[in-house]
Order: sequence, then structure tokens, then C-alpha cells
Amino acid sequence: MTQDIRQRMLLEMQQKAAFDDARRAAYAYADASFERNVFPTQQALDDLRHFDEPLPADPGDAQQILRQLHEFGSPATVAQIGGRYFGLVNGGVIPATLAVRWLTDFWDQNTPLYLASPVASRLEEVTEGWLRDLFGLPDSTVAGYVSGSSLSIFCGLAAARQRNFTAMGWDINRKGFIDAPRLRVVAGRQAHATVSKAVALLGFGTDNVEWVAADAQGRIETAALPELDASTILILQAGNVNSGAFDDFATLGQRARAAGAWVHVDGAFGLWAAAAARLQHLTRSIELADSWSFDGHKTLNTPYDSGVIMCRDRDALVNALHAAGAYITYSKQRDGMLHTPEMSRRARIFELWAALKYLGKSGVDELVDGLHQRARQFADELAQQGFEILNEVVFNQLLAACDSDAETDTTIDLIQQSGECWVGGTSWQQRRVIRVSVCSWATTEADVTRSVRAFVAARAAAREK
Ligand SMILES: *Cc1c(COP(=O)(O)O)cnc(C)c1O
Repeated sequence: MTQDIRQRMLLEMQQKAAFDDARRAAYAYADASFERNVFPTQQALDDLRHFDEPLPADPGDAQQILRQLHEFGSPATVAQIGGRYFGLVNGGVIPATLAVRWLTDFWDQNTPLYLASPVASRLEEVTEGWLRDLFGLPDSTVAGYVSGSSLSIFCGLAAARQRNFTAMGWDINRKGFIDAPRLRVVAGRQAHATVSKAVALLGFGTDNVEWVAADAQGRIETAALPELDASTILILQAGNVNSGAFDDFATLGQRARAAGAWVHVDGAFGLWAAAAARLQHLTRSIELADSWSFDGHKTLNTPYDSGVIMCRDRDALVNALHAAGAYITYSKQRDGMLHTPEMSRRARIFELWAALKYLGKSGVDELVDGLHQRARQFADELAQQGFEILNEVVFNQLLAACDSDAETDTTIDLIQQSGECWVGGTSWQQRRVIRVSVCSWATTEADVTRSVRAFVAARAAAREK
């Protein structure tokens, strides 16, 4: 590196002009986000051509880079922090967690070991205890902090695989699957796509899963559950990604316990029902499970990305994920990499810790309950306008349909184009449906009513076509 560029970087750290610019741009962005079109306009999408340039031959200018990103990048974002984005299951963002992120961005901590970041290690431990308490999980439960549920499901099933094989006297890490005794995987037909991905990555093969029939809401039919045994991994769901439905954890969990099977709960967004007094009935008996995966970036509204694996059997999780090397110095304190597949990892714990510290128990309850209330309002107002609601709105998800599949699909397109709100489509019980996920603290009653108006206008235009 030339002396020149190091001098410039030192100066940028000292003078902070680019950081001041970033702050101003971020504030302008935030102020516009609550009112602007939710999806980028055609103009904004066309302007992305400004990024089509060759890799610069020489160093550039920090402030100029930031200007370009704000001018052409900000308008081409989805207005995710406002109150009218209802696609996927995307949480908004709690301001206090963004502020914490700004500070901790300067810390630039890496989190594999206590020795790499004592503060991250301590807050991972503190937050682990808070989460155990909030969800009512067993005292032995440990947490690993990963990028999202895709990975935390993988970790839960890796721990399950470890424990079940160990019980059969088979060291899966060393011997792999060749000549291994057979493990069984049992899951509901409506399990999330990332469950299938984890099953595939871990070498079970999706064809070998014993898929159990689901009812009209997407819950496992308890009567259809096969006989379980100690070689079985049973995968349950807290919050179906379309309907929001919850499996019957009491019945299924008791059967699994009696058989010695491992139970993993995919609770990406739904596990948070356990932290809301009026919704707790949905997650009754989740403590019977062995591992639980969920996100901070959905229901809890932390910044991206934030997923958590919790596992009652620390040895199973650590033996499944741990690595050794002469330069890796484990300590008596918490070493994060024992609980995650990654070694180097960003310190996402600061934002998760801050979200829980900021909201407290009553704030989490209010946040989760509020999402449910807005979803109920959405469903009620849509039903009044003649849309058919296809699911029981037990949590934050609702599925609405027009008179025909074609009308539903055109209506979805027109809602998206309107910029008034954003919803996606999906198939449910052989029908095309509009899929609404209320997942942001920022969604107000007025946002819902305004969005319903956009639905009605889009359907009217669809009928004209
Ligand atoms: C979103 C979701 C996932 C995947 O989570 P990511 O955080 O996107 O990786 C898994 N299961 C369910 C039920 C989900 O809603």
C-alpha cells in the first residue's frame, strides 16, 4: 500500500467527513421512508445502470462513493423500515438497535473467541439467559448466534444428528454416512423450504424424510404421526410461513419424549408468541423440545441479519460444530465459535441484546401482540371488502383471495406497482392467494387501512382488464 493511500485513510478516520455525510444521508433516507413508495419506481430501477462500471484502476474518494450510493442506491431500496411492507416475513428495525449498530460498527469486533472480543462474549452469555427466561426454556439451554433461521435450523439438526448417532455408538464426524446406522427424520408436509435445505446439507436426503400430512392450516395431523423411536429427529413448526399456524407441541412433544426422539422447533418468527401473554397458548409445551431456531430480524425487529439456535444439550451442539487448531485458544469464558458453524463472525449480538434491553419483557409482549392485532385488523377490513380470508389469523400472517386465481395474480401485480404497500403471492390449498405478513413495529392502523384501499383499487383495475 502506498504511503499516499494510508495517509488518506488516516485523515478520513480523523476528519470524519464521510461519516458526517453518511449520517446526513441516513437521516434523509429515514425521514422519507415512512411515506415514500414501498417498491422502487421504474426510474430508480433504471438508474441502477450508474453502477455498471468497471472495477476502478485506482483508489477513489470516500465522500464521492457515498454520494453515488445515496443518490442511486437509496431510491432503489425497498422501504423496509416504513410501515407498509408486508412481503416475506420481514421485520422493521428498532431505532435503538440501529444506533447501537453505528457505535459497534466502529468496534468491528470478531466473535469466535472470548479473547477476540470479551464484550461480545459477555453479551452473548447474558442474552442467552434472557432468551431462556423469555421463552421458558430449560436451564441447560445454550444459544448460538448466526445469520438467520436457514443456518440455525441447520445447527439444530446437526446437534440432533450428533446426539442420535452418538447414542448408537457412531462417530458421525469421523465416519460420515458410509455404513452408518439409519437415522429417521420426521417432518410436516408444510415444513419450511429451509428445513429441506438443512436436511439435504446434512446428508439425510429429502427423499428419506417421513413427511407427515398437514391439516388445512398447515399443522401436522397428530393422528398421522408415525411411531417414533430414539433414532428419530422430529421437526416441528412454530409459525407456518404462509398461514402462521403452530403445531401441537404438547401432544407431539410428549410422544417424542416418551420415544426418546429429538425434537427441533423451527420458530423463525413464531417462537416469539411465547413472549406475549395473549399468544402464549400457541407455543404451549415448546420446552419439551431439544432445540429451537428463530430470528431476531423478523418478529423482534432487529437489523439484518440475526438468527439464533438454542439447544438444551450443549455437548451435542458443541460436538457437532466445534473446530480445533493449534492457534485457537479456548478460554474459561464463553467462546462463541463453539456454538456456531462459523469461526469469524460479525458481532450481531449487540443489536439483539439492545433490542431486548430496550423493549424489556413488556415491550416484547406489546410488539408481538401489536403485530397480531394489525393482522387481525387487516383480515377484518379485507373481508369487509369482499376478499376471502383463507386462514385462521392466529398470529401475524394472513392469506386473502379474489374471485379467481387470475384475478388474484393480477391484483397482486397491481398492488406491487402501486407503491402503496408491498405484498407477495403464494399458493395455498390449490389456490392462488395474496400473502400478507405484518412484521414491523412501524405498521399503524392507518397503514393497514391505507393498504386495504390499495387492495380494493388494484382488484377493481384487475376486473377492468
Ligand atoms: C423465514 C423463515 C425461515 C428462514 O429464515 P431466514 O432467517 O430467512 O434464514 C425458516 N423457517 C420459517 C418458518 C421462516 O419463516
